[in-house]
Amino acid sequence: MNTKEQVTVEKLYHFIGGKKRKGRSERFGKVYKPSTGDILALVPYATVEEVNETVEVAKKAALDWKRTSVGKRIEVLHRFRSLIVEETDKIAHLIGLESGKTISDAKGEIARGIESVDLAINAPHLLKGEYSVNVGGQINSYSIKQPLGVVAAIAPFNFPFMVPVAMTSMAVACGNAVILKPSERVPNTALYFSELWKKAGLPDGVWNIINGDKEAVDAILSHPDIPAVSFVGSTRVAQYIYEEGCRNHKRVAAFGGGKNHMIIMPDADLDLAVNSFIGAAYGAASQRCMAISAAVPVGEKTAEDFVAKLKTKVEELKVGSFNDENVDFGALITQEAKDTVIKYIEESIEEGAYLCVDGRNPKVKNEKGFYLGATLLDHVKPHMHIYREEVFGPARIVVRVNSLEEAIDLINNHEYGNGVTIFTANGSAARKFTENIEVGMVGVNVPIPIPVGYHNFGGWKRSKFGEGHMFGPDTARFFTKSKTISERWPETKINDEKVVFDFPSNR
Ligand code: NAD
Repeated sequence: MNTKEQVTVEKLYHFIGGKKRKGRSERFGKVYKPSTGDILALVPYATVEEVNETVEVAKKAALDWKRTSVGKRIEVLHRFRSLIVEETDKIAHLIGLESGKTISDAKGEIARGIESVDLAINAPHLLKGEYSVNVGGQINSYSIKQPLGVVAAIAPFNFPFMVPVAMTSMAVACGNAVILKPSERVPNTALYFSELWKKAGLPDGVWNIINGDKEAVDAILSHPDIPAVSFVGSTRVAQYIYEEGCRNHKRVAAFGGGKNHMIIMPDADLDLAVNSFIGAAYGAASQRCMAISAAVPVGEKTAEDFVAKLKTKVEELKVGSFNDENVDFGALITQEAKDTVIKYIEESIEEGAYLCVDGRNPKVKNEKGFYLGATLLDHVKPHMHIYREEVFGPARIVVRVNSLEEAIDLINNHEYGNGVTIFTANGSAARKFTENIEVGMVGVNVPIPIPVGYHNFGGWKRSKFGEGHMFGPDTARFFTKSKTISERWPETKINDEKVVFDFPSNR
């Protein structure tokens, strides 16, 4: 980096104990504006000492927050929700600025984030314990859920708002203190909504942000006073987080990547399938873990008709700046991400795939932005890299099969199992598919089968490691520990002269 950049580019900070804290390390990362290719800010990378100090701050805050009545905690969440609604335009702008996604897409992400705050507002219902009366000898037995203390969340770049909010709102509602490590590519959004937590009345130290890279993550993973870590990101890192976290005796929920298929049956409403594919496949420049990557038309005629309709529409898609209302999707997160997707396209062509629509040189206003146009490849085969791996950019593929059984086998043999959908008019085909498919989130005639906030979210196979949850009702279980209490308040004095050595029984 030259000296001029160092002078003009804003240096970001951490958010610890309710205050902005300058990073003490000399290590910084560049945050880009993907729409222009310019550097937006420099983000500090925290040291192990900075992480350790943050844990101490959070530990103190967690003690008081745990004792705060559930009603008071939920009041804070209500205010946080209202502030998000009031600040939607500002948040959407920040998301677009640092991630490249369009403002309307960013607003969709904010709406889904609010859904997870809504679920957290219902935490009292999910935290109710169980009670059994007179299980034996006037003893009543009950179980309660208590917060864990300090919990950590490590977030990806592609949802700068929704994922961090969804990962942490329930943790806060359950009475924990949180340390969030946002993606170093999109730290501004999280720093901004930290101020909203503060304005909402969340006590200082319950909510903290540590910016950083692997060094900060490793400090979190090895810290003895962080009993639970939730992670969302690529499969390679998810597996690492899961294994390292478990080795250090933590609860870990680690969500990874995906390769999501859409089966198109011969009886499907083809226009609906084509439109659904386009939105779900190319929205957000395909940078969604639940983006549809592969169309799987069943039968040659279905494939020919589907590809013909799809090609015309894909050619019309417009890529451009996050704040241009006329574009369908924005830039990729970095130049490196763009180069990686182009490499997949070129390699697949060499391997025999047919390039139906070439988006490698899109017409855009700002050529320095990390833009890649909508690309479609047909006749992709299961052995090709572009099929086997998650491609986080707008290069989508068609894999032709001859039967529903072949489609199910294809998908079940893939290493990922995040999302999948089928388009059909046949109930028994849909039933066979939903019963036999080895995928965690399944759709029938819907484009992206993302569950609403009050159902559990999560993939199978290498899309999720561990049984932990961070979206949906099981999240309340993940962020609490259960305690079972047996107590006796006898009406009459108990004859305690005789010592009993037998194993306690309730007879
Ligand atoms: P990423 O794995 O590169 O980064 C995620 C987080 O891990 C970041 O905070 C990053 O700082 C940290 N990290 C990166 N490398 C690390 C390392 N070697 N050691 C420790 N920590 C490290 O992911 P990304 O590129 O930011 O996000 C895109 C990925 O996230 C895609 O694979 C996408 O499918 C996935 N994703 C999954 C879900 C889901 O719910 N399953 C949701 C959103 C995104």
